[in-house]
Amino acid sequence: MPNVRAEALRALTQDCFQAAGCPSGDAELIARLMVLSNLRGHDSHGVRQMPRYLRNIQDGHTMPHTEMTVVRDTPSLAILDANRAMGHVAATRAMELAISKARQMHISAVGVRNLDHIGRIGAYPEMAAEQGMVGLCFTATLGPASIVTPYGGVQGRFATNPISACFPVPQGDPVLLDFATSVVAANKIRQALDRGKEADEGWMIDRQGRPVRDPQAFIDREAVMLPLGGPRGYKGYGLAVLVEILAGILTGAGTFATLRDRSNTNNVSFLIVIDPTALVSREYYEREILSLVEYLHDTEVRPGDPPVLIPGEYEGNQQRQREVEGIVIEEPVWNAIQEAAANLGVAVPTPVP
Ligand code: NAD
Repeated sequence: MPNVRAEALRALTQDCFQAAGCPSGDAELIARLMVLSNLRGHDSHGVRQMPRYLRNIQDGHTMPHTEMTVVRDTPSLAILDANRAMGHVAATRAMELAISKARQMHISAVGVRNLDHIGRIGAYPEMAAEQGMVGLCFTATLGPASIVTPYGGVQGRFATNPISACFPVPQGDPVLLDFATSVVAANKIRQALDRGKEADEGWMIDRQGRPVRDPQAFIDREAVMLPLGGPRGYKGYGLAVLVEILAGILTGAGTFATLRDRSNTNNVSFLIVIDPTALVSREYYEREILSLVEYLHDTEVRPGDPPVLIPGEYEGNQQRQREVEGIVIEEPVWNAIQEAAANLGVAVPTPVP
């Protein structure tokens, strides 16, 4: 499989989005976040999405250059309508607004709706943690397909509705929770197909409730995903409903129950930022979170097993490794990227041997 350095991949991605009509600053931001997803070990939401995002621009589903509308604005709250902007750009602007409001008001919530796919949800809470704040993101994945069934069902009722939370840790990887409320992200099933592999057991069922492992059955809409927890997924189902309400109803975007226009992905997101120093002193916060990290690391494991990780260390370890070793891309994904770049007249870097 081709291995491409992060820097080359960023340049390629930026050039493609600029050629597709994005302002250069936005193209730079999109490229940085997309490649960061690969670096942080989430290839499912990295550059493999580039051809799809570019197609959405070409088909007029996503606007490469648009202004957001402020629907509601108070000192601590806002709702933004992104007017079909690129997801990464709109979600970043919404998080920047949430951080600035939390600086003034100690806690803020900002909803953003009517935007394309925002990629790796964890990227946005990480922005708050980089500034010493706690960030949360709830994303209702409205759009063409309800691909996740409620607990006990065999029919899709919503999509993968991810949740992320990020807490700063002094001189260490931030504590980062970042996952779909379905058993895995849907793109991991598409990724399994590209790798010629089966989906894991417990990810999908068919309309008769029988387990399914063939990724093609999911693409053909013959199988639906189970909520987080798989066959015992009532808690994942509950979390998915939480996201549908927080991000769907509280932003005014609605839910799959009332969704009429299913032509576009709408990664409607509800962001919360908290300034921890408004509650406890910075010294106390740092001392306590470092003690918690150390305490969890000190957990005994079974002989031969790797040490316990803190949520977010997987991403930190992947990034340190991939910055050095490069990013490995599946052959069909690399072919699709090359084709998309060629259509825009953008030169493609040569993978490293
Ligand atoms: P996943 O199953 O890969 O789990 C990731 C989480 O598990 C992270 O918090 C990570 O730090 C933690 N983790 C991994 N290994 C660990 C270990 N050994 N010990 C402790 N914690 C560990 O997540 P997923 O549900 O497959 O989601 C993958 C990506 O897909 C995420 O970045 C998510 O934001 C993204 N996603 C995006 C959308 C969208 O519509 N934009 C939808 C769904 C998912």
